[in-house]
Amino acid sequence: MRLLRSSTRFLLRAAAYIWASPYTVAGLALGLACGGRWRLVRGVVEIHGPGVRWVLEHLPVSAAAMTIGHTVLGRDPGALDRTRAHERVHVRQFERWGLLMGPAYVAASAYAYARGRHFYRDNPFEVEAYAADRRREREHSSAAGR
Ligand SMILES: [Zn+2]
Repeated sequence: MRLLRSSTRFLLRAAAYIWASPYTVAGLALGLACGGRWRLVRGVVEIHGPGVRWVLEHLPVSAAAMTIGHTVLGRDPGALDRTRAHERVHVRQFERWGLLMGPAYVAASAYAYARGRHFYRDNPFEVEAYAADRRREREHSSAAGR
């Protein structure tokens, strides 16, 4: 039974990586084009460097980091550390939505904007990721208060 459970878990993880892989490949290509340093953190490739920083500063919403499949581009190692909880929510979103993630994200932004909301802050994908940030902050402040 235990072997079946771990085999099932492995197959589900493999399927999640395959499902998100077109975006992961695009993220890796962007990381290659930008240059910089790479590291593997719990199954996710994190890339940072001056080229990545330039790209992130010139997005419609300037970002400390950005997730593309199982790739996270960050301005520097500190930005990757600070945004890890938020960006891992996006990794899970890519695993759920696969190829549909890009169109779904854009549609969610358009829908928010059409309703008079902010296209980024009120996008449900971002709302979910920022909720993870707030949970992490609460855990850190309660741990510090002990
Ligand atoms: Zn985000």
